[in-house]
Amino acid sequence: MTDRSQRQAPRLLPILLQAFVLAVCLAFVATEAWRLADSHRQAEAGAEQDMSNLAKSVSRQAADSLLLADGVLTGVVDRLETFGVQPVGELNAFLAEEVERSSRIRGLFVYGADGRWLASSLRTMPAGQNNQDRLYFRHHQRFDDGRSYLGPPIQSRSDGRWIITLSRRYEDADGRFAGVVLASIEAQYFADFYADFDLGHQGVIALVGQDGVIYARSPDNEGNVGRSLAATDLFRRIRGHHDGLLAYRSPVDQIERLSSFRRVDGFPLMVIAAESRNEVLAAWRKAAWVHGTLTLVSVLLCVVLGTWLARQLRLRELAESRMAQLARTDSLTGLANRRAFEEVLENEWARAARQGTSIGLLMIDVDDFKSFNDTYGHQAGDLCLKRVAEAVRQCARRPADTPARYGGEEMALILPGIDLQGLGEMAESVRLAVLALAVPHMESRTGRFLSVSIGASLTHPRSREDAEARDQLIRAADDALYDAKAAGRNRVALAR
Ligand code: GH3
Ligand code: MG
Ligand code: MG
Repeated sequence: MTDRSQRQAPRLLPILLQAFVLAVCLAFVATEAWRLADSHRQAEAGAEQDMSNLAKSVSRQAADSLLLADGVLTGVVDRLETFGVQPVGELNAFLAEEVERSSRIRGLFVYGADGRWLASSLRTMPAGQNNQDRLYFRHHQRFDDGRSYLGPPIQSRSDGRWIITLSRRYEDADGRFAGVVLASIEAQYFADFYADFDLGHQGVIALVGQDGVIYARSPDNEGNVGRSLAATDLFRRIRGHHDGLLAYRSPVDQIERLSSFRRVDGFPLMVIAAESRNEVLAAWRKAAWVHGTLTLVSVLLCVVLGTWLARQLRLRELAESRMAQLARTDSLTGLANRRAFEEVLENEWARAARQGTSIGLLMIDVDDFKSFNDTYGHQAGDLCLKRVAEAVRQCARRPADTPARYGGEEMALILPGIDLQGLGEMAESVRLAVLALAVPHMESRTGRFLSVSIGASLTHPRSREDAEARDQLIRAADDALYDAKAAGRNRVALAR
């Protein structure tokens, strides 16, 4: 009875609303995700920049410290090559003075060509010591390259502390190897310098030889000086490069770090400055957590509100469509009421005109209904009308067939696309269906049971908006109905 477009159009609204809410939520989440990804990138880039600057300054400090120590060595070599070792007392005092002046240098030592200790900055010289076996000694013995030699970190024989050695060869008047001058620097000197930088709890600065041995590290709780990183992935990745950025998992403590490394100019050393990725991203993570939670709550609120609104909309639409349905339905019989009848007839008329098909109409009127009411009462009359309506409804088989209550005890049946023969058969089947109800009607002039008379008319609408022709169709069915009544009732009459 209700046409399809009217039923479906309003349902679009809740769906549109939900789609809109979904789109807004997605856009919101996407924006937040992008912002978080961007700030993540920025946090990492900032840390990399910091580490890069730090590596630069730390490598410069290492180079400067070693150059300074080398300057002192050169001074001692000059003195030795000019004045010789004697007098030892004066040389010792000279060495002690040089150590006194430099905060970096812990000790200065002079060894003879055979490795024996000749002089040192120490107050007391260990007797009978020989350093011929030391690497630096053998290096200078062999090479006359005029350069200082940086030895691997070694543990002091006197107090077990790690020291870094820088040494130079000195020669006699004939240019032959005369011995070695050595300066020792405490690894701790570098570690103390590194400790001044705030790199969080898990940041690290390390001074590493080009062969992978750790010279100094801050913090160095695990006693890593002297350990070799040569076999580690970290070292393999930085070996051979002058400087660069690197994210790695520390082979020392397994912490993931963002680092910058850089060669120490002039010496076979590199520095690595690194911050823990965890700490670099701590602030970001906190912000991400807060933003993530807020986003989630907002999205949830949006979804809940959207769903609720869509539901309200749907309920309202349902109520509206129910009301519209009610407004078009006859309350007693449940058939289309007069208004709906007119609407449907108008629509079907237009469709038939468009498609060039026919439209048939039955006018059905209960015979002697006044006397039925008088005999059995008005309530029984109502019940009877309901049953007649149901019988008419059962006869309407095709979806477009529309039964309606035209008024009082008169019903109508719109039959689009029917031909004349079908119209007659349909009218007859309605008449028989009512008879078959076998509603007793003692006062009926047609028999013992309730009957109907039916007027039928049929036309091929020419124009869609021809109200006059529509009325003509109704009038023709009415006239036929009048004819059926006049001819004795309980019969069908076709319009002339
Ligand atoms: P005819 O065979 O010529 O149609 O005789 P009739 O008595 O049916 O004709 P008439 O049109 O004079 O009477 C119709 C009666 O139908 C009058 C009215 O009381 C009754 N009627 C109309 N609507 C209703 C209704 O909703 N309920 C009941 N119970 N009776 C109704
Ligand atoms: Mg009647
Ligand atoms: Mg009547």
